[in-house]
Amino acid sequence: MSRPLTQAALGQQLEHRGAAWVVPEILGASSRTGRPVGITARLLDRIDWSRLERDPIRLQYLPLLSELEDDHPLCRLDPLAESSHQPAPGLVRRYPDRALLLALRSCPVYCAFCTRSWLVSGGTDQGSRRERWRSAVEALSADPSIQDVTISGGDIWRLEADELSWLGESLLELPVLDRLRLATRGLTAQPERLFEDGAWRQALVDLATRARARGVRIAVHVHVNHGIELDEDGLRASGLLIDAGYTLRSQTVLLRGVNDDLTALHELIRSIVRAGIQPYYVYTADLAPGAEHLRTDLATAVKLEKCLRGMTAGFDTPTFVCDTLGGGGKRGVHSFERYDRETGLAVFESPVVNPDRLYLHCDPLRTLEPAMRQAWTQPSTRDALVQHALRAAACPTIP
Ligand SMILES: *Cc1c(COP(=O)(O)O)cnc(C)c1O
Ligand code: SF4
Repeated sequence: MSRPLTQAALGQQLEHRGAAWVVPEILGASSRTGRPVGITARLLDRIDWSRLERDPIRLQYLPLLSELEDDHPLCRLDPLAESSHQPAPGLVRRYPDRALLLALRSCPVYCAFCTRSWLVSGGTDQGSRRERWRSAVEALSADPSIQDVTISGGDIWRLEADELSWLGESLLELPVLDRLRLATRGLTAQPERLFEDGAWRQALVDLATRARARGVRIAVHVHVNHGIELDEDGLRASGLLIDAGYTLRSQTVLLRGVNDDLTALHELIRSIVRAGIQPYYVYTADLAPGAEHLRTDLATAVKLEKCLRGMTAGFDTPTFVCDTLGGGGKRGVHSFERYDRETGLAVFESPVVNPDRLYLHCDPLRTLEPAMRQAWTQPSTRDALVQHALRAAACPTIP
């Protein structure tokens, strides 16, 4: 099975591919951003080393020190404020009827733009996690308003088969549960696990069977950002899960140089649909540390949505959202109260999350004029920019 490569093995693989010179660049980026390095041999095989600067797989998993940009001044380790919205450790609640269960801290691969680097460490926490899950399930059973749980991470693809069964079964026992989702990179990073690890396949198949028997809608949410990521094995794996009874939905992060053009995005949607996956969300990248070079401005997301809509069936067209800074939740990219291209600040309302607060999205500094970039670097002008944006959004007569 194509296991995540250790750092030494990655070094050997890159040397073997005549790309030894990128190793110090990759390790340098990792030590500057504090993000772990992780990729599978399957994905490594898909990288075109002759154009590695622009390769969509390399950009996502193996950032180079020389391409990093300074973080935006409003960047934070936990941009969505997930760590402070936890009714129980590892349980994130932003919406009235649904919650995220962050089951573990590791993934089969590590993404350069991950919003959850406050949690995802690359280490394992095998010893303590069962205890955490038990208290999360207890918190859920004490709160019947939550009818929808997403098991995320890290990535569920790093669970043991018996752990997935235990967790899934415990959640299915909640009398009010209506929807159960599993979020993963597994179908692109390591689809072969479904064919080579019989216990894993059985655990997934059994979970879908039990969910359906109880009338719980069950889905796998597939994180995929480029058409090249869903290969033949990915298609087979998707088919297997669909046959087992899962609904498959896609989640894509809009990334500069990877999928921020109409052709790449259209091709991605085609590959998603071909795999039987329902296109669900395209997110703008969050304000997470070390991700600045991959972020796009909101205008790019708005433009791409505008151009994509109509190119294919409406039910095959994903919704473009930004997950607002500080935990306002997902907002349609067109639904801002105010968007100032000069400061790069967009302001959103989020009535369900908090009717009395406004939430921000910030364009990358690279997209702003030099004088404005300069203003952002000064703490006093920076605060004034934010305050003005919030005031002007609340009161449209302010210019
Ligand atoms: C995205 C998210 C959900 C699920 O939202 P949907 O729009 O229903 O997919 C639930 N909880 C949290 C904290 C989320 O970030
Ligand atoms: S697989 Fe998901 S949780 Fe893991 S690093 Fe990538 S985006 Fe983050």
